[in-house]
Amino acid sequence: MIRQLECPICHKPVLAPAEKTPTCFPFCSERCRQVDLLRWSKGKYAIVEPLRPEHLENDENQSPNDE
Ligand SMILES: [Zn+2]
Repeated sequence: MIRQLECPICHKPVLAPAEKTPTCFPFCSERCRQVDLLRWSKGKYAIVEPLRPEHLENDENQSPNDE
């Protein structure tokens, strides 16, 4: 029986890790694993802002109406 797992961060379906395959399990990717670590490192498992892929792709803040 195969259980469908999902990433705790982005809730994408995650395949169970194969024994010889490096994986970020239970996260779908290294990126999500880092997000999780980052959350904990801030002391509180609470982020007000929802996780957005573009937010992770670009470190720069691109606010259209910043000034
Ligand atoms: Zn994920």
